[in-house]
Amino acid sequence: MKDISKRGMNTKLIHAGQHIDPATGAVATPIYQSSTFAFRDADHAAGCFGGQPGYKYTRLGNPTTEALEKNIAELEGACGGLAAATGMAAVNMVYLTLLGQDTHVVATESLYGPSRMILENEYPRFGVDSSFVDSTKPENVAAAMRDNTKLVYVETPANPTLKMTDIAACAEIAHQNGALLCADNTFASPYLQNPLELGADIVLHSMTKFINGHTDVVAGMVVAKDPALLAKLAKVHYNFGGTMDPHQAWLVLRGVKSLGLRMDRAQENSMKLAAFLEKHPKVEWIRYPGLESHPQYELGKKQMRGPGAVMSFGVKGGLEAGKTLINNVEVPALAVSLGGIESLIEHPASMTHAGIPAAERLKADITDDLVRIAVGCESYEDIESDMARVLDLI
Ligand SMILES: *Cc1c(COP(=O)(O)O)cnc(C)c1O
Repeated sequence: MKDISKRGMNTKLIHAGQHIDPATGAVATPIYQSSTFAFRDADHAAGCFGGQPGYKYTRLGNPTTEALEKNIAELEGACGGLAAATGMAAVNMVYLTLLGQDTHVVATESLYGPSRMILENEYPRFGVDSSFVDSTKPENVAAAMRDNTKLVYVETPANPTLKMTDIAACAEIAHQNGALLCADNTFASPYLQNPLELGADIVLHSMTKFINGHTDVVAGMVVAKDPALLAKLAKVHYNFGGTMDPHQAWLVLRGVKSLGLRMDRAQENSMKLAAFLEKHPKVEWIRYPGLESHPQYELGKKQMRGPGAVMSFGVKGGLEAGKTLINNVEVPALAVSLGGIESLIEHPASMTHAGIPAAERLKADITDDLVRIAVGCESYEDIESDMARVLDLI
């Protein structure tokens, strides 16, 4: 399709990076399930290895994977993308490229568990120091910057607290200090938020979540604004080897086409459920970017096109009551992950964030009573009546 960059978001979701296969007319991008690609002759091979366009070996690039990279790059307004085997492979691609001996990273304290745990437990071996701050206040990020800070790493909305970080303000702080800003955009998806437009240098996704959306693939993506930066990331990525398989890319391409439809529906369900929970007498507190009671409701409206479909809340009676809730719901499955077509519920303090020391968890507001629900696309009446029934049990 011509002029894809001028088209609407749903047109981009469906068509960006893809073309009718010239050999067969196939409308869906074929799965090029080949590990290697033959060259016409020695000169062609030398040219491809010397930087000319052309496929060489699937770890270094594959037509199916490339279609997905172009798709997400277009959605995020990036110069290109790098598909990764998992979201964590994407996170590590960024850390490994930008951090090293005697460097420092400033990160959101309420991060996806493993994104924080590897900085705390693994990267110190390579001489990397980290500061975790409440990035809802940009001044905390500014105060943590050091001469050797190479990366500001934010997640917004953050997992599982749904706290938001001002991307434009953090980009300015990072750049003033000669550092780069990376935003984990998994919770919003490119449908709702584009951090590169707000000044971020790198955006990453766990495509396991909203982008694929069908709870059947793990996958990650990194996109960047500057071609030189993307090339630097690519060099590390291709040699460390956390790259994506073409079959996996094909499944994600199938999922991304319906991202807008799924997000609209899940968001509609979320708005109704959040309003229901907020006024329910058994609910102690709730945090959802779509509620005016969210401390950063205005920031959400400024940098996102919608509040998303994940919320966290606490019930009266704390952890025990929360357990009763998650043990008795029927519509959401008791499972980690989010952004799928089905609703999922989990308890971060004993599940996804159990690896973070309790005191640190509390400092980041990941309280023991926090229950996270990722709202899916089921009939809303079923989600609400299920929740009403279990809230009556506690
Ligand atoms: C799930 C998730 C990741 C990690 O992705 P995987 O695909 O599980 O490796 C990173 N960041 C956020 C915000 C996530 O939700």
